[in-house]
Amino acid sequence: MASPAFTAIDHAMMARALRLAERGAYTTRPNPMVGCVIAHDGEVVGEGFHQRKGGPHAEVFALEAAGERARGATAYVTLEPCPMCAGAIVQSRIARLVFGAWDPKAGACGSIFDIPAERRLNHRVLVTGGLLERESRELLQEFFRAKRDTLSESSSPSKRAS
Ligand code: ZN
Repeated sequence: MASPAFTAIDHAMMARALRLAERGAYTTRPNPMVGCVIAHDGEVVGEGFHQRKGGPHAEVFALEAAGERARGATAYVTLEPCPMCAGAIVQSRIARLVFGAWDPKAGACGSIFDIPAERRLNHRVLVTGGLLERESRELLQEFFRAKRDTLSESSSPSKRAS
């Protein structure tokens, strides 16, 4: 993977998406923590986070909030979007997508599919992954750690402080 050039605005927006993702932790546990910010040159036009397991993804809330203003904007997501969200991002005419962690199991922006680059669609999105990847991944790992703790209460050597 070529080392991508991220701007100061990119970093600030992804940091904001991470803070949003963390808010998902206070709704239901265990909860995969993912946040999404949609911005035009640093001006936020929509944002959202994954609120509960099985519920709408962060991107759905952010795109809904942005409405028409999603057109030509940049979407920042802490996790590589799934096929459904990648499709919604293309449909919304987002110009550019920046995400944090790659999702080798369900990612549709280069991992298992590459929907934003699909030539048969009439709009393409410029995609760069890996911004604040470690921080984004840590939030997800916290989710899986919480899940493991729930599954094996007795065998877990290090209990998470609540
Ligand atoms: Zn999704």
